Amino acid sequence: MNPEILLARPRGFCAGVDRAVDIVEMALEIFGRPVYVRHEIVHNSFVVDGLRLRGAVFVDDLESVPAGAPIVFSAHGVSPAVRAEAANRGLKSIDATCPLVTKVHLEAIRFARQGYSILLVGHVGHIEVEGTLGEAPEVTQLVDGIESARTVQVPNPDKVAYLTQTTLSVDEAEEIIAVLRERFPAITSAPKSDICYATTNRQNAVKEIARKCDVLLVVGAPASSNSNRLVEVGRACGATSYLVERASDIRKEWVEGAKCIGVTAGASAPEVLVEEVLRQLREWGAREAVEVEVSKEDIAFTLPRELAEEARSRGVAVEHLEKHAKSRGSTSRVG
Ligand code: SF4
Repeated sequence: MNPEILLARPRGFCAGVDRAVDIVEMALEIFGRPVYVRHEIVHNSFVVDGLRLRGAVFVDDLESVPAGAPIVFSAHGVSPAVRAEAANRGLKSIDATCPLVTKVHLEAIRFARQGYSILLVGHVGHIEVEGTLGEAPEVTQLVDGIESARTVQVPNPDKVAYLTQTTLSVDEAEEIIAVLRERFPAITSAPKSDICYATTNRQNAVKEIARKCDVLLVVGAPASSNSNRLVEVGRACGATSYLVERASDIRKEWVEGAKCIGVTAGASAPEVLVEEVLRQLREWGAREAVEVEVSKEDIAFTLPRELAEEARSRGVAVEHLEKHAKSRGSTSRVG
């Protein structure tokens, strides 16, 4: 076997994940261990285990967090009810919600105030969806696929808006939204897509390589929505596609006989895991990877103001502050 390797770019960490991980690291430096984190900060066990070793404690609910302790909300966002519970319990909340998820929350609030029924296109039970639903639960319904788009009912079809989860398949979301538009011609939405730049760019990069490859390996966690969507996009382009968390998950028979293997990573997978996969493929005889760049990304989000001020006053982790000091422009689409 001497297959060609095509490596998608962009791939891996997005600006929201990078920021969320830095926030937990900074909180550990500022407050010392333990720092509590509600849910996995990002959907990647390698990243989560690394932070756990440094003193982060991941919890599913706030009951087990001692009063006064710092609690970080994950990149996926939380509902107002969770924020209120943290405040009532006297916890020190640090918000690592991705600003592009916050954008969707603000849209939900705006549409609800304007009297719209909201249809949220997303996956049942996904943590981001639970947070967004919580902004206006009395007027928001989840639409989790074509069938649900065909059957959902609203009180006034002339006053309806849709929002989406940030990490959906762009193509699948378009199909669902087309059904909603057909049923509710007056439906409105935010001016820009809720599907974020990182999701869109990674799917476009996969389309570019998957149609040239026999096999696609997506580095990502089973719970990662955007990683699962990359697998689906790869399959739709004709490549036999697999989700792998680590190189050790790859079965040799998957890649034996392949002439071209595509490699990419979801937005919560660090580059070190991609390098591990490439090393494994080389050990099995693959050629050096050729990177296929579809769009450039140069985006960074500012840190939560309270954390930045706290860090400055204590002289902590200056490199994190500089890295996130300004949101840089991007040549790629911001969803
Ligand atoms: S995938 Fe998109 S919405 Fe999610 S953290 Fe990354 S940039 Fe933010």
